[in-house]
Formats: sequence, structure tokens, C-alpha cells
Amino acid sequence: MRIEIYKKGRAVKQNYDWKEELRSRISSADELLEFMPDLPESPLFRRLYASVEDFRKVAEAMAGEFRFSVTPYYLSLANLENARCPILLQILPRREELEDQVFQFPDPLAEDSHHPVDGLTHRYPDRVLWYLSHNCAVYCRFCMRKRKVSRSNSAPDRSSYSAALDYIRNHKEIKEVILSGGDPLSHSDQTIQFLLTELRTISHLSSLRIHSRMPVTLPSRITDQLTDVMRQAFPVTLVTHFNHPVEITEEATSAVRRLRMNGVTVLNQTVLMRDINDSTQTIEELMLGLLRIGIKPYYLHQCDEVHGVSHFRANIETGLQILRDLQGRNPGIAIPRYVIDLPGGGGKVPLENQYLRRRTDDGLEFENWSGLKFTTVQDREDK
Ligand code: SF4
Repeated sequence: MRIEIYKKGRAVKQNYDWKEELRSRISSADELLEFMPDLPESPLFRRLYASVEDFRKVAEAMAGEFRFSVTPYYLSLANLENARCPILLQILPRREELEDQVFQFPDPLAEDSHHPVDGLTHRYPDRVLWYLSHNCAVYCRFCMRKRKVSRSNSAPDRSSYSAALDYIRNHKEIKEVILSGGDPLSHSDQTIQFLLTELRTISHLSSLRIHSRMPVTLPSRITDQLTDVMRQAFPVTLVTHFNHPVEITEEATSAVRRLRMNGVTVLNQTVLMRDINDSTQTIEELMLGLLRIGIKPYYLHQCDEVHGVSHFRANIETGLQILRDLQGRNPGIAIPRYVIDLPGGGGKVPLENQYLRRRTDDGLEFENWSGLKFTTVQDREDK
């Protein structure tokens, strides 16, 4: 089914070019209905919309706020028989996005109030976030940068690069540059090569990081030419964004392998989302699947408090329970750090289960992952 849709869709050839696939994206309600004529009959569609006309209205109302666009590849992972299809839930525009009463602010992390130079956020002393593009292969409805992502013309243009590079050169406390967006890999290989080469000349930088969801949404973007550019800038870390095991496909696996074979460290961040991945089974399968294809799970994010995404919010208790379940029955490197980004620009803090229970006369009492209690003599207080 998946292959059939993928091949039928939009002149996607065997050895397709990623730019061609980007141009073939499905970007309106009518295009989606044309591409997936059975969509209105699916249980998920019927749960979300009163009718096809209702869907069209929602999509139209959202169009000016946050675009709808999906690659034929990513759409081909959808399962129309699944009433909670994790692919469709991540891409279909919903009425709740406009009517969100819970999360009120477009920029709760105050990223836009720490802009020393156009395109750069310098919030933590040791690192800067560089927004290179507001374009993405797929627009994820839970995006925490909805306020600017999908508005192509709002991204800083090339004329701002030298000011950003000068700022980084002149601030020796910066140890890490994170190329972000939108998706920085929506730029050409030449632009990425230029930026990585320039950044490599700055001796106080210890880490170059790229944030991209393209290994998940457009794996064809990870070409030999691109990985060659990254190899030349060694060491580069790419943080990608798998949210569900169904996203771990042959194509994604090959893309990750190309990155790894060229010296790129690949990490993953996942957003914990209601109905999509907020169960131990799904997160466990995802984390183990990532390890299997050469990706180290890095962060599990609590949903940011961005206007229009509160319907994706999972409970923190659920997240903590998932982490507790993972502990003790999975390799330690399969366990991501569960974090929340505090509203108001407070930064990330880890959400952790408490295993240290109390201090006793004998030492410290711990409860392990299975609920058993153990006492250590470490830190015994002198009487
Ligand atoms: S790829 Fe990232 S930046 Fe782009 S829409 Fe998805 S979450 Fe937002």
C-alpha cells in the first residue's frame, strides 16, 4: 500500500532528486484529497471533521497561519485504517489550532527577545541558535515555532550571514552553534558548505550542530554530496526528530547510515504527544528502533506551551511513568532525557523520577525501577 501510493504519487522517480520531491509536495486540502481519495472514509478523518467541506474550511482558515504541506514520501507512511494514525495526526490541520484556549502565547520560550543579530538567538551563554530558514519539507502541526515557520519570506536572507558570523567570532564564550529553522537542510549544499566552512575557522567553537527533520520527512535530502560536505566539516552532530516507530523506514535507515558513514553523530529528539506516542510501548519501540539504525535518543520533550498545540499535550505524569517503565529493562543508551522548556525563557529542565527515597540511620534508601528498596551506606551521617 505504502509503496503503491508513493510510486503513484507525483512523478516521484526511482532515483528522484530531493528538490523534485520538494516541488511535488501536497500543499492544499484539494491536493490531499486528490492524492488520497479514500481519506474521507477513514476513521481518523471522520473523527476530526464533520465532512469534506468542513475539512476544506479548516484547512483554508489555517492557511494564513501555518501552511499545510507534506512530501509524498511522508504521506505514504499513513495508514488510513488506523483511527489514530500517527502520520496523519502530525500533519492534518485541525480546528483546535485556531481555537486553543490553553496555550496563549506564540513565543513562550522568549526566543525572539534574545536576538542580538538578525537570525540568531543567544539565550544561554555558551550557545547560539541560528534560524537559517523558515521552510520545512513537512509542516508539523505541533511545531513550536509556528509563529515564523512556513512563512518563507520571513527568514533572514544571506545578507545577514556575515553579521551573524561576526557576532559568533566576537563572542568567545560561545562554544556551540546550532543551525536550525525551520529546516536548515532546505538550503542548498553550497550554502551549507559555506556556513560550515566559515564556522570551522572559529577556534572557540567546540560543537557544530544541525537540527533537521529531513531524515524523517524527506530522506532523499541526505545525498552523497551533502554528507560529503558534512564529512569535510567533521565533527558535525545532526539532531533529527523521529516521533513514532512507523517513521523508521528503509529510506530513513539509509539516510542515517549515509550520515554515520561520513562521521556525523546522529541524535534524536521526540515530542511526547497525546494519542501519537504517549505510551510506554510506542516510546520503547521508537527508542530501540532508533538505536538499531544508529541514532542515539537524546531528548523526549514535553510539548511546549505554544498557541495552537495544546491538543497535543500529554500529561507530565504520563511521561514520567514512561521513563520509569523504560528504566531497568532497556539499555541505558536507549533512554532519552525527558525535558520541559520553561515558559518565559527559563530554559530546559530535566523531568526526572525520584529514586532516592530518604535518609535512614544506615545511609540512603533508594527504590529501584521495579519498586524494590535498597539502602546504601554512602553518605551515612556521623552520629
Ligand atoms: S520540521 Fe521542525 S521546524 Fe519544521 S514544522 Fe516540523 S517541527 Fe517545525
